[in-house]
Amino acid sequence: MKIVDIRDEVVGNQSSFRNAYVDFSQMTVSVVAVVTDVIRDGRPVVGYGFNSTGRYGCQGLLRERFIPRVLAAEPDELLDESGSNFDPAKVWATMMTNEKPGGHGERPAAVGVIDIAMWDAVAKIYGAPLWRLLADRYHGGMASERVWVYAAGGYYYPDDGLSKLSDEMRSYLDRGYRAVKLKIGAGLDEDLRRIETVIKVVGSGANVAVDANGRMDPETAIAYGEALRPYGLLWFEEPGDPLDFEMLAELAKLYDGPLATGENLFSRHDARNLLRYGGLRPDRDILQVDPVQSYGLVEYLRILEMLDAAGWHSERIVPHGGHQMALNVAAGLGLAGAESYPDVFRPFGGFADDSPIEDGYVRLPDRPGIGFEAKSDLYAVMRKLGAE
Ligand code: MG
Repeated sequence: MKIVDIRDEVVGNQSSFRNAYVDFSQMTVSVVAVVTDVIRDGRPVVGYGFNSTGRYGCQGLLRERFIPRVLAAEPDELLDESGSNFDPAKVWATMMTNEKPGGHGERPAAVGVIDIAMWDAVAKIYGAPLWRLLADRYHGGMASERVWVYAAGGYYYPDDGLSKLSDEMRSYLDRGYRAVKLKIGAGLDEDLRRIETVIKVVGSGANVAVDANGRMDPETAIAYGEALRPYGLLWFEEPGDPLDFEMLAELAKLYDGPLATGENLFSRHDARNLLRYGGLRPDRDILQVDPVQSYGLVEYLRILEMLDAAGWHSERIVPHGGHQMALNVAAGLGLAGAESYPDVFRPFGGFADDSPIEDGYVRLPDRPGIGFEAKSDLYAVMRKLGAE
């Protein structure tokens, strides 16, 4: 049993959306195919993955370091003890050979994309969906049949913003979502009008999260915290710089609603510092580390173990990403839910074609692997890369 080839491709994001800070149309994604010599249903098993959303492809890192290391390993060194499947932890350790601690930067996403493609292959060889494999191995066999998801969007419109924002949010409700998220940070008065508009559409502040994308300085974040308190929002996400733990701790003292952060922390060590110094409260706050961008699922399992030891229940974890990979992780490991981007990051965002959102929840397909084959627009990109 061996890995025959690992292929990668950089693909443009088909979304033309831009907000005050980021132009998504410029973003790229690395797609990876791990081709094995294991035959299932008459064909070689190919594991697929992509390095999540909202950042850039990482071809240089993949081609210079991580792909060659895996391909150079002795095949038996990458197998589990039974010898009947690959061991993602061994592949992970092989990728991290000659890597020093710290300096996470773009490296975690490059390791993560190969890692998640390995898990897709491992689940296909196991003959079950990844969520089922994760539940069997790490969660006492308990998988969630459906996962809570919320619609992330609510960017700024150039003109007639409130009516367009209102239409956008209504369209999420029409598509089965119950909870939504909008961007904030451009100006408090305007944002309060936008938040009130969205609450009017979805019915309650408890179904509305706000996301500042880490752009606020401490004074602004505190002013927003004071102003947002009466709305009883679902959460207030990434008020300031992702590494400004002191600021977060100050905000947590005065903002008694849930705070959410973690999508821009890319390692177990950064997540540990967040818990140590961020002043977050395990009874209400939300952690959003992305299971692909933070060194993949092998490392994510270690992060979850660390969170658990620090008293953080899995119901306080809602991974970033809006894709099938995070959805499988949430379903298999009992996390609170997952993000969803109904209108951005195509074709990478979103779930299987036959998995509609119903009353705020999504069901997962019951096919081996992560389920990319059940999402036709995305699989059209992946299939070409994995073709014999
Ligand atoms: Mg965010």
